[in-house]
Amino acid sequence: MDIRPGDILKMKKKHPCGADEMLVIRSGMDFRLRCVGCSREFMIPRNKIEKNIKSVSREEKG
Ligand SMILES: [Zn+2]
Repeated sequence: MDIRPGDILKMKKKHPCGADEMLVIRSGMDFRLRCVGCSREFMIPRNKIEKNIKSVSREEKG
């Protein structure tokens, strides 16, 4: 799965705050994500997050 910093991940499982979208801050072995709802940031292993992704959206620039 191709995921880059700046992408918005729509998750199958909602964050406790109720939001289901996460902004990718950093990708790699571990992802750093920021919840779009509450702006909380956290690290999560790639294999764990991939199972929970419903869709990926990317803002095309230019
Ligand atoms: Zn949240």
